[in-house]
Amino acid sequence: MKKIAVIGAGTMGNGIAHIGAMSNYEVALIDISEAALAKAMTTIEKNLDRMVRKEKISEGTKKLTLANITTYTDMATGVKKAGLVIEAATENVDLKLKIFKSLDELAPKSAILATNTSSISITKIAAATKRPEKVIGMHFFNPDPMMKLVEVIRGYATASSVTKKVMSLAKELGKMPVEVNDYPGFAANRILMPMLNEAFYTLYEGVAGVQEIDTVMKLGMGHPMGPLQLADFVGLDVCLAILEVLHQGFGNPKYAPCPLLVNMVMAGKLGRKSGEGFYDYSKAGKDLVVAKQFK
Ligand code: NAD
Repeated sequence: MKKIAVIGAGTMGNGIAHIGAMSNYEVALIDISEAALAKAMTTIEKNLDRMVRKEKISEGTKKLTLANITTYTDMATGVKKAGLVIEAATENVDLKLKIFKSLDELAPKSAILATNTSSISITKIAAATKRPEKVIGMHFFNPDPMMKLVEVIRGYATASSVTKKVMSLAKELGKMPVEVNDYPGFAANRILMPMLNEAFYTLYEGVAGVQEIDTVMKLGMGHPMGPLQLADFVGLDVCLAILEVLHQGFGNPKYAPCPLLVNMVMAGKLGRKSGEGFYDYSKAGKDLVVAKQFK
């Protein structure tokens, strides 16, 4: 497995390409958008520069890493000779099913097809291909070059030999993989999202304010970020989508998204990426400013 193809050069795709190339794999980074590819390469170079400045890698490693990545807008050319494809395109079920149908036709027959989806069923994605035994989840975490965890998700049909290969590849990439089965939210989001949802309810019901809730979890539980700050970082639309997957998948009202979260997403308050969520990011500065709505 000398070549890895990464589909999607957004937030996650550029990080996956970065760690693959730094571990000496030949990486094909593929996106439908030239602009996304250019932005990804700039981000990778900036992140490598930071690592050189902190003396984590040498200038030579930086150059080799960049030389290991080639960008493509044509998927057919990009996935040629790949031993592993990691799909990190937009979180949309129809798009992923279409991409996996194409990958099944275009990638070498022996290639393992992995998806970085946060919430879509691996079993469903695998069923869009004629090689469901070679389809698996590889759930990386953001910011990818810094986060050690990879959830390796076995679909209903994933072969044990494929899981073993992916577990050892993740270790080669410097990650700490954990193996989980394919049920809604997998393990990480099944545990995290109900906690974030409870924080939204705690605010919604007036039990405590934004800063108080985050302080409780930071200083009382030793979390590096409070749940509301973390939700802003993940994106409130993403939190809502995952909670809906949990709610529908288990049919259990305990996963029902908090009405405050639903309202905020409808109002376009999506957290950091939109400039406002529980906190206001429009004013530059190190200190977090609580959004006007919650003052
Ligand atoms: P993003 O919006 O930053 O990037 C998605 C990229 O996919 C875009 O550049 C887009 O142009 C590209 N794309 C869309 N259709 C494509 C196609 N047909 N072929 C090739 N490229 C295509 O998204 P992201 O945050 O990087 O998320 C990507 C995946 O990773 C999603 O499945 C998401 O659930 C998952 N994920 C995200 C995070 C996170 O914190 N952002 C964490 C873990 C997993």
